[in-house]
Amino acid sequence: MSVKVRFAPSPTGFLHVGNARTAVITWLFCRQQNGHFLLRIDDTDRERSKEEYELAIEDGLAWLGLDWDEKTNQKDRMDRYEEVIEQLKADGRLYACYETPEELGLKRKTQLSRGLPPTYDRAGLSLTEEQIAKYEAEGRKPHWRFKLNHAPIEWTDLIRGPVQFKGEDMSDPVVLREDGSPLYHLCSVIDDVDFGISHVVRGEDHVSNTATHVQMFEAIQGKAPEFAHLSLISDAEGGKLSKRLGSLSVKDIQEQDGLEPMSVVSLMSRLGTSDPIESFTDIKPLIDSFDFSKFSRSTPKFDPDELIRLNSKILHETDFGSVQVRLANMGLQDMDETFWQAVRPNLEKLEDAKEWWNMVNGNVTPAIAEEDADFAAQASELLPPAPWNENTWSEWIGKTKEATGRKGKTLFMPIRKALTGMEHGPELADLLPLLGPEKTKERLNTKKAA
Ligand code: GLU
Repeated sequence: MSVKVRFAPSPTGFLHVGNARTAVITWLFCRQQNGHFLLRIDDTDRERSKEEYELAIEDGLAWLGLDWDEKTNQKDRMDRYEEVIEQLKADGRLYACYETPEELGLKRKTQLSRGLPPTYDRAGLSLTEEQIAKYEAEGRKPHWRFKLNHAPIEWTDLIRGPVQFKGEDMSDPVVLREDGSPLYHLCSVIDDVDFGISHVVRGEDHVSNTATHVQMFEAIQGKAPEFAHLSLISDAEGGKLSKRLGSLSVKDIQEQDGLEPMSVVSLMSRLGTSDPIESFTDIKPLIDSFDFSKFSRSTPKFDPDELIRLNSKILHETDFGSVQVRLANMGLQDMDETFWQAVRPNLEKLEDAKEWWNMVNGNVTPAIAEEDADFAAQASELLPPAPWNENTWSEWIGKTKEATGRKGKTLFMPIRKALTGMEHGPELADLLPLLGPEKTKERLNTKKAA
């Protein structure tokens, strides 16, 4: 079977980590199967849909490295939806209902208070001509429901295994609003049919929708596609990951947090699977190892700290060539490959490179303790002559050790603090050639001179 998938965001907000996970997983599956990826913009809700969000979603996907083979907008397909709706009406699968939201609410309440499930009572199906005429005279406009067959609904979900619903346990879904505009459910099914979607991958919040969709697929084309419902991710405390938590949008991860896209892709591909969560700098191994059977049905926890851990691992393996432009955009156009190699193991985020650049090229606050001042001055006398290279450090520290009798931390730490103003940081062997003799000498003597 040739694989065709779709990712169907609603442009009513930015791409959120939850949707990004669905996008990543759908894409990995698709690329592994040499399939076709459709980006479908679910913009039937004309009031809440914004072009700004649509563009931001596309940006977010592109930033993650997820490409698409085709794109469609639901707002451009209204004529086609109309056509199918007319057919379904003619087939008796859609029926008009005149209840107001208040009346429906009241019915629900009554059912619940009697211990009954709050399914729609299908009153719309038994309206007489007079009742309809009366409603119309009152100015009421009908909304339309899809009439479910009261029969078992079953599918074998690629993640959840066999899933069963009973048509009679479900409310007939509303598919047309009072103003005649079609709702997501039917539009989604019509699109999936027309675009020949073979696999629908989406969150488990859609499982009961899927049960009704299965019957819509059968009514329109006779057969439903395959389904894979991903368990939803929760926050680190196990709470529901709110769609509106702006801090978790891909845009913020990209712009404010300055994280690498592959840290998001690495985490999202492996979260909730039996494979270990590891950092990947290339997406290919993630495509190769993708398998729906590795996904668990339990709720995986999304921990932003895990993103940072992956991000630093990724940076530690990133070549200078792939970040040079971004460094230049950060004002670090003079940074070269040697510098990058020296500081790279100390980065959590690319932005941190700035700190190390300033540490080497700017002024550091002298941090030589009183009792180490003579030692630092003595070490400074022992500095080898220029030019310096990666062996300068061991040559120098060997001589200093011999001359001063210091060893271990008492030998290294005062030097590190004098040179960097800090107790941790890049390897001194790498730093020394970056600093050069003049600055090194100056920093070793700063306290004394002051
Ligand atoms: N626009 C829907 C959503 O974001 C799409 C669901 C689907 O994949 O069918 O939840």
